[in-house]
Amino acid sequence: MYCNNSTRDDLRCPRCGAVGRKVPAETVPALVLPAYRQLARSESFFLCRSSHCPIVYFGENRQTQFSRHSVSVPVWFKETGDDVLICYCSGVTRGDIRRSVLQGARTPAEVKKATGAGDGGQCLTKNPAGA
Ligand SMILES: [Zn+2]
Repeated sequence: MYCNNSTRDDLRCPRCGAVGRKVPAETVPALVLPAYRQLARSESFFLCRSSHCPIVYFGENRQTQFSRHSVSVPVWFKETGDDVLICYCSGVTRGDIRRSVLQGARTPAEVKKATGAGDGGQCLTKNPAGA
C-alpha cells in the first residue's frame, strides 16, 4: 500500500514506490515510441527517478506506465554504459564527460566547455527528464 500523502506533483511510482517527478506535457509524447504517442498525450506523467526501476514514466492515474523499452532513448540514470547520452541536446555521452575529466576538466563549467554539454536548449523534447 502507498502512503496517502502524495500531492499531484510528487506521486509515487506504482512499480517501485520511489517519488516521481512531474514532467512537462511536451516531453513524454516526444520521447515514447511512435505507437504510444497518442496515449502519452492523454494525461500528466511523472518520471520514476530510481536507477533500478524499469519504469520511466507513469501516468497521474498510475495505470499507464512506460518502461525503458517504450522510450526511444536510453535514460541516463537507468543505464550504466559510457555510451549513454548525458546531454541529449548536444549528444554528449557519459564517456565524453569522463574523458574531459581525465583530460583536466575540474568543474562543471570546465566540463561544459570541453564537451559542449548544456548548450542545446532542447531538453523539453530531447531529455527524458524534460529539463
Ligand atoms: Zn519506479
